[in-house]
Amino acid sequence: KRMITTEFTQEDEKIETGLRPQYLKDYIGQKKVKDNLKVYIEAAKQRQESLDHVLLYGPPGLGKTTLAGIIANEMGVNLKVTAGPAIEKPGEMAAILNNLKDGDILFVDEIHRLPRQVEEVLYPAMEDYVIDVVIGKGTAARSIRFDLPHFTLVGATTRAGMLSAPLRDRFGVVNRLEFYSPEELCCIIENSAKILQVDIDKEGAMEMARRSRGTPRLANRFLKRVRDFAQIKYDGKITKEVADFALNLLEVDRLGLDRTDRKIITTMIESYGGGPVGIESLAVAIGEDAGTLEDVYEPYLVQNGLLLRTPRGRMVSDAAYHHFGLQPQE
Ligand code: ATP
Repeated sequence: KRMITTEFTQEDEKIETGLRPQYLKDYIGQKKVKDNLKVYIEAAKQRQESLDHVLLYGPPGLGKTTLAGIIANEMGVNLKVTAGPAIEKPGEMAAILNNLKDGDILFVDEIHRLPRQVEEVLYPAMEDYVIDVVIGKGTAARSIRFDLPHFTLVGATTRAGMLSAPLRDRFGVVNRLEFYSPEELCCIIENSAKILQVDIDKEGAMEMARRSRGTPRLANRFLKRVRDFAQIKYDGKITKEVADFALNLLEVDRLGLDRTDRKIITTMIESYGGGPVGIESLAVAIGEDAGTLEDVYEPYLVQNGLLLRTPRGRMVSDAAYHHFGLQPQE
């Protein structure tokens, strides 16, 4: 398991309990999304209507689930949480919808993974707050329409492109979550430290923030790990030196790269003169599957300008050479 995986792990369940902000004012960053939501929430409350359906998309660990909880709190309604792969049959979705109350939020994580027939239940439910249930079989089959409470669907996905057009079109509010700046992550770390009663100084928080790959989930995970080092190896306070020491031991470097990330870059430099190299050859060279390399490892390296995708193959950027203390090739 990679220390820097942004996917939710079992350990995160313990870490994240108690750290999730409850209201918009405590939700750091994502200014555009917050400004948008503030207006829609206020307007819906004034009209005493349910909020329009909201789609949140972006990489894992950026705060989609947290935001769904915040929307429910701000609206003063209940939140029901489920996930695309958890609902297998249309009847299950119908039952969930039927149990909601007016205004309630239904949060569906990984909504792109809902089975097609389940998704189809959502179309009339989202549009007209009704469901059609088919009773009987063959020529005796008939469809009965039931009214549903006026709920709000909050859908979250890491792959907006995989959502079917009819589903995507039924969301009135579509928001993309962005990676966080080191300064924003620093704020999140300081807030979490306060809640956990961890002693930390600004430089310590900033050092962790810089290595958190733009992702609050990682920032909180690092905080918990570094806290242990601070307690056992130092006097309990997280300073830059402590953060540096602990994260180096955990093999997360100054840019948040782990061992595999570094292996990718150094292999490209040492074995392929910095590229261009095809993804298949590179995968063989580092002993990874090409798909994993492309989906899991590459995005962060590309996003940070360390790796370039060119029509001739992958290339190492000058910035990557500098990061490893090397001179870029002509
Ligand atoms: P996934 O889709 O993988 O479940 P997610 O996008 O739903 O991830 P969350 O579970 O909401 O991510 O957030 C991960 C952690 O980061 C939580 O502990 C949460 O407290 C924290 N977090 C996320 N966004 C913010 C934010 N804007 N301010 C403060 N803390 C945040």
